[in-house]
Amino acid sequence: MPLVAIVGRPNVGKSTFFNRLTETRDAIVFDQPGVTRDRIYGDALWNGAAFSVVDTGGFVPRSADRFEAAIREQVAIAMEEADAVLLVVDVTTGITDLDEEMAAILRRSKTPVFVVVNKCDNEGRRLEASAFYALGLGGHIYPISSLNGSGTGELLDALVAVLPHLPEDEEEDTRVRIAFIGRPNVGKSSLTNALLGEDRSIVTEIAGTTRDSIDTPLKHHGRDLVLIDTAGLRRRSKVHENVEFYSALRTQRAIERCEVAVLMIEGPEGLQAQDIVVLKEAETMRKGLVLVVNKWDLVEKETNTSRDYAAKIRDRLQTLAYVPILFVSALTKQRVHRVIEEAVKVGDERKKRIPTAKLNEVMQEALAGHQPPSYRGALVKIKFATQVREAPPVFAFFANHPKGIAESYRRYLENRIRDAFGFEGVPIAVVFKQK
Ligand code: GDP
Ligand code: GDP
Repeated sequence: MPLVAIVGRPNVGKSTFFNRLTETRDAIVFDQPGVTRDRIYGDALWNGAAFSVVDTGGFVPRSADRFEAAIREQVAIAMEEADAVLLVVDVTTGITDLDEEMAAILRRSKTPVFVVVNKCDNEGRRLEASAFYALGLGGHIYPISSLNGSGTGELLDALVAVLPHLPEDEEEDTRVRIAFIGRPNVGKSSLTNALLGEDRSIVTEIAGTTRDSIDTPLKHHGRDLVLIDTAGLRRRSKVHENVEFYSALRTQRAIERCEVAVLMIEGPEGLQAQDIVVLKEAETMRKGLVLVVNKWDLVEKETNTSRDYAAKIRDRLQTLAYVPILFVSALTKQRVHRVIEEAVKVGDERKKRIPTAKLNEVMQEALAGHQPPSYRGALVKIKFATQVREAPPVFAFFANHPKGIAESYRRYLENRIRDAFGFEGVPIAVVFKQK
């Protein structure tokens, strides 16, 4: 999906604008409650054209001395990563020094840049927007109000006109698409290199290569695979917050495009809250999941160390406990090939289809073991189940009171499906329909 980056100094209205662009599309069907994080990334749709939007504002360091350097770097990252950049400025303040600095960087950009003059809530302010031609970014000046939405239509018309069209061939690509994700320094590039062989330095970015070519093909036991987004792994930045920002952006983009997301953590440091958020996001997008604990060479081992470690992780993952966990060392190459094996296996599981007759047998057993609780005094009857799609798998259960089936019972059925059919590492959807 094409990417649009929103840049600008604090308080010009970037996040207000970002929310306006993305909020309607964000309520996807499989949304999970409890994922709270300042959103920096979302999807938007305008006149049938879909694109992703990233708000670069959330990661600006608070300390004054690093602030300007961080913003400059962010503008540079946006220029490289995005298909279009929206520089948001504030009509009520006019052009500030920082606006000018950003514009100076953006004037060298090959990526299309739009100047979005925000807070033009009325006609008078709209007229003042022309002052921003002085930024020297050409004729793309768009007065808008993120508060009341005026002017956004013209801006979005012009924006989607310059965005590249989606290459549809990814859908037809039969290769398993695997993404290594995780916080900086957990060993993503080391693992990639270990798998591809030392001498193939795939992580150097070659000038002039297109964004599509950052995927690395790989053959494993005769299967064609693709490692998604491997070139993005090596990026180094001087500003800590930008490393985080860049990593979060890459992670989102990679999850979006993969079939199986391999989340890496490192043994000594363990599972962090942020890792769980990322796993949940990948689950929300219904991607296959594998958890890799890297740097296992650094962990002192006694009997059962890995078993105890895995149990602790599962405990914290709760409803994500179906995710397989591997212990590897990219450094010593211990078990690195298991990562690919497991990812391929999860990818295959995700494509599995369960025959309706078998599914209904399992459903009958499940119902016999534990009836759904009654709903407003009425008996809830589940009559029939079928797998309505695969990759990702969705199971529909037909019932007389589909709305009366509680989340706990849905989980019960999900777990019975897992017991009977596996689906290790695969998020499965269980939905109820009226019959
Ligand atoms: P950010 O720091 O660039 O992300 O800016 P915010 O989105 O947090 O907005 C900063 C302030 O500007 C908030 O108080 C917003 O309510 C306000 N604001 C944002 N957009 C508009 C607008 O279009 N008109 C007016 N009048 N205020 C706005
Ligand atoms: P990335 O940012 O996730 O791509 O992480 P890197 O692959 O750049 O690794 C970060 C650091 O961890 C480097 O210094 C690696 O040499 C080191 N490292 C990676 N994997 C291992 C491992 O399995 N064991 C140990 N001891 N160090 C590792």
